[in-house]
Amino acid sequence: MYHHVKKLMYTVNVGEPDPRFGNMLLEQFGGANGELAAAMQYSIQGLNCEDMARKDLLMDIGTEELSHLEIVGSLIRMHLRPMKSDRGAAEADPLVAIAGGGGVSLYNSVGNAWTADYLKITGDLAVDLRSNIAAEARAKIVYERLISFTDDVGTKQALQFLMTREITHMKAFSAALESMDKPEFSIGTIAPTPGLVDQYFNASTGEGDHGETDHVGPWNSEHGLHIVNSVAWDGKEARDGGLNVRPYNPQPMSEKTSRVDSTPVGDRKIMKEDAQREKVA
Ligand code: MN
Ligand code: MN
Repeated sequence: MYHHVKKLMYTVNVGEPDPRFGNMLLEQFGGANGELAAAMQYSIQGLNCEDMARKDLLMDIGTEELSHLEIVGSLIRMHLRPMKSDRGAAEADPLVAIAGGGGVSLYNSVGNAWTADYLKITGDLAVDLRSNIAAEARAKIVYERLISFTDDVGTKQALQFLMTREITHMKAFSAALESMDKPEFSIGTIAPTPGLVDQYFNASTGEGDHGETDHVGPWNSEHGLHIVNSVAWDGKEARDGGLNVRPYNPQPMSEKTSRVDSTPVGDRKIMKEDAQREKVA
């Protein structure tokens, strides 16, 4: 149940309306990393969530994002107001001025309609929480860029409030993921192939004309990784035998999961028969 309270979560004050900045702000209203996308992503994930504790988290934050949408919408309307009567202002966003009468609609800053394609909803709680952490990081950086393109004090303060809340959410989603007590790289229920999972394939090799090098970094060696070289462009064979392509048939439910993980998706009968065969073998 939703209940609207006639009060903004953060009171917005705008000194000098700036229609061109109002247009930029639409990115956080009807854009890919905007507040509606966040509200819908978390609320719909919550609707699908079978773990009651984390369902509550998803509904809490999904609902707060709707309040953010209301703040951003109010802020945008203040900046777009001159469009109603001023031709120069209307040119900052003809779609908003002519089709929308200077009000907000669910478009991004270049007039693309909001779409459910923005949402990342997989039905796997641990995967969804990772998507949400990334979504909050994207929302944060977009707010930061908006802050850097306005001098209006009231606008900066409202955006600072919204930007801060995204980091708060990032902390909550991170804690929720950690509290599932899964190993860091455990996703789903089928274990990855041993050996292969630790092979870092050096697929981009040689030196470029602009100083690009075959760089070595922790991404080659941490978490058990080691480099496997690609066959060189001049036809020399890889020294270490290349990628491990031996077939591997993992036991169903072989990955370490969490008590609150989503119900595994798949043909339960086949999974049971596979498990039975493994036992006999
Ligand atoms: Mn938000
Ligand atoms: Mn958020």
